Amino acid sequence: MKSTIIGTTQLLGVIGYPIRHTLSPVIHNAAIAALGLDYVYLPLGVNPEDLAAAIAGLWALNVQGFNVTIPHKQTVMAYLEEITPLARQVGAVNTVWRTDQGWAGTNTDVEGFLAPLKSLGRSWSEIQVMILGYGGAARAVVAACAQLGCQEVMVAGRNPETLAAFIQSWSALQIPLTPLAWDDLTQYLGKTTLVVNTTPLGMAPHEDQTPLAPEQLEQLPKTAIVYDLIYKPRPTRLLALAQAQGLQTIDGLEMLIHQGAIALEQWIQQPPDINVMTKAALEFLGF
Ligand code: NAP
Repeated sequence: MKSTIIGTTQLLGVIGYPIRHTLSPVIHNAAIAALGLDYVYLPLGVNPEDLAAAIAGLWALNVQGFNVTIPHKQTVMAYLEEITPLARQVGAVNTVWRTDQGWAGTNTDVEGFLAPLKSLGRSWSEIQVMILGYGGAARAVVAACAQLGCQEVMVAGRNPETLAAFIQSWSALQIPLTPLAWDDLTQYLGKTTLVVNTTPLGMAPHEDQTPLAPEQLEQLPKTAIVYDLIYKPRPTRLLALAQAQGLQTIDGLEMLIHQGAIALEQWIQQPPDINVMTKAALEFLGF
């Protein structure tokens, strides 16, 4: 972290509720310190009923920008003067910055999700994706799959009405989306080349859980990639089982770091050091 906060120090932060488990101050302050910049990044717990007052207060306090996490990613959009087309597509904003007209917002989760996939240097047009879950993170994954031009994007969820509404919400875009009932997903694993877990299964306090059982993972082609958005524990039970079967795996840490790095670059107008941010996160998480 910046060693001394002085009169000129510029303010950044993250709003969420609860906020105590956020890793963002760790990675952002490490990057700021490495660049020797006069900024500090703060955790800001904002109760949902106080959101309007908090956003006005951040403006009045001359905060330069902030991240947005659960439960404010959708509701914050009502307070922004400008929203990028990507964030509108996803339906959620996680990064906000000042403009002369007011707050502007975008979504950096999509690029964050794509970063580890792009580094694999594979062709994505033949890829059949299965997304497990249909919450906020799944929306960023669908937008990312659209950018990759994936051949088919299957979305598995346990509530048929919520799943249908999720699929319907993308109808204006020509994304090849297929809804899958959770209990039926096994029969589609044989053609799946990228599985993405966006459910909390495997995350504390459910570390012993996995969205896919070993016998289901056996159905995947040997070239399949298993991507879990969870970053702690490392590996999750899902990724440990996939690794035991020789499958390629990706965890959520790289996504977390990259979405943060893109946000920080928006605020400080220079690229932060990804390695510094990753090292800080790993040290903090005890890995
Ligand atoms: P969310 O909006 O609450 O969505 C969670 C989804 O999981 C919902 O569709 C929910 O379905 C489903 N789900 C929950 N329990 C389930 C179960 N037992 N079986 C089947 N489906 C179940 O949460 P989110 O914001 O999308 O976040 C999801 C996960 O992604 C979290 O673990 C979060 O930490 C992680 N994440 C990571 C990053 C990163 O940078 N690495 C970024 C964003 C999110 P129902 O509605 O039916 O309950």
